[in-house]
Order: sequence, then structure tokens, then C-alpha cells
Amino acid sequence: ENVLRLSGITKAYNRGAPNEVNVLRGIDLDVGTGEVVALVAPSGAGKSTLLHIAGLLDTPDAGKVEITGQDMTGRGDRKRTRVRRSDVGFIYQFHHLLPEFSALENIVLPQLANGVSKAAAEARAQELLDRVGIADRADHRPAALSGGEQQRVAFCRALANGPKLLLADEPTGNLDPGTSDQVFAALMDLVRGTGLSAVIATHNLDLAARMDRQIRLDAGQLVAD
Ligand code: ADP
Ligand code: ADP
Repeated sequence: ENVLRLSGITKAYNRGAPNEVNVLRGIDLDVGTGEVVALVAPSGAGKSTLLHIAGLLDTPDAGKVEITGQDMTGRGDRKRTRVRRSDVGFIYQFHHLLPEFSALENIVLPQLANGVSKAAAEARAQELLDRVGIADRADHRPAALSGGEQQRVAFCRALANGPKLLLADEPTGNLDPGTSDQVFAALMDLVRGTGLSAVIATHNLDLAARMDRQIRLDAGQLVAD
């Protein structure tokens, strides 16, 4: 079963203007249950655009996005938001944690927004923090955490509502190489441990080699490696 299916996705910016950029030119991609796909692309190739379309944060000019078998074509914002909240987790290069809340609270809040009780949300948040090795940092605010710890919290937040699909845009791109390796290993443990499907964009070919499949975004099209 496909958790994500993209068919014939196209996207241009500034369509019709002299500075038109055809970023995506017919993207087909299937990601199966538990499959972890590396998305490798040079800067400016359209990685972020592709991940935003796959995660229902942006709409394609043409083509079909299916998430857990649901065709999202022509669906309204409410439906798209509901599917995004329940089925998709996002991780960015920067953690984007809320600065005035603790690590634990940052993982609890999206669960409360999803209707989970406070006690259950806190238990799940604590368990996720434990799985990425920072259970003892639960009460720290983001500013009191290292860069690697901040990203680990962001991973936990992305998984808080039990998504089926994880989309990550250079999740360790801001970290120094040593930290990056450890934090990436923590992310892979988390993904493998939950049987999650994932598309993880990275420039790092060593990290890409540890995933199930590598695809390259080149001149607006996907090429399998
Ligand atoms: P890359 O790492 O290949 O440069 P990114 O998608 O990370 O690709 O970045 C694309 C552009 O967006 C870059 O110019 C980068 O500086 C900028 N950018 C990336 N992340 C952020 C962010 N969180 N806020 C503002 N600008 C960003
Ligand atoms: P990547 O994540 O691979 O760095 P992006 O998807 O961020 O690439 O951007 C792909 C191309 O589209 C780049 O040339 C970028 O400048 C351009 N682009 C991205 N967002 C916009 C936008 N909102 N308006 C115009 N051009 C954009």
C-alpha cells in the first residue's frame, strides 16, 4: 500500500512572467508503508517545493497527490488541513520550536490540538523524548538545549500525532558533521521503530545511502539512483 503517491506533479513560479521558473515538470513518486526515501538535490532544485506539495502545504499546478490512498485533488483547505494534521509530520532544517514552552510542552501542544487528553499527551511526549535519548531534557526550553537536542525535540513533535508519512527537509543540515551523524541516527531509529514512511531531503550522500531508496531531483524531474 502506498502512503504517498504523486502523479504528474508540475509547479511553476511566476508563470507567464519573464522570470518564470518551472520547478517541477512531471513528478511521479510512490512511497510504500515503512519505506524511507532519500531525496537528493542541489540547492534550488525544488526539494522544498516538492515536500510542501507532498505535505499539503502547497498545491501543484497539475497532477495528483494521494496520501494514505486519499486523492487530495480539489479538496478544500479544511480537508487538507485535517489530513495533514493526522497523517503527515514535518521536520525542517531549523527546529521552529516555540521558545516560551518546554521541550515536553512543544510535543504536547500538537496533541492537544488533535483532541488528545493532557495526561496521554504528556505520557507520549515523555516516551518520545526517551526514544531519542533526551528524557532528562523534558523541562528545558529550546534556548537551553544544544542544536542537536533541539532537532531531536522537533523530531518528537513531528511524530507526536502518529503520522503515517514523515517529510524532512535537510533535518540535520544545520548541525556540525559529528552531531549531524548522531542526530540522524536517532531520527532513523525513531522512523524504523514506528514503521513510518518517510521522504528525507539531504545533501549528505552518506546519510542518503542509509535509506531504502535514493531519488534525485534533476531539472524538475525525479531520477532513481
Ligand atoms: P539548501 O539547503 O539546498 O540551500 P533550502 O531549502 O534549505 O535549500 O534553502 C533554500 C533557500 O531558503 C536558501 O536560500 C535558504 O537560505 C532559505 N531558507 C531555508 N530555510 C529557511 C528558513 N527556515 N527560513 C528562511 N529561509 C530559509
Ligand atoms: P530547494 O529546496 O531545492 O532549494 P526550492 O523548492 O526552495 O528549492 O526552490 C526551487 C526554485 O524555485 C528556486 O529557484 C527558487 O528560487 C524558486 N522559488 C521557490 N519559492 C519561490 C516563490 N515563492 N516564488 C518564486 N520563486 C520561488
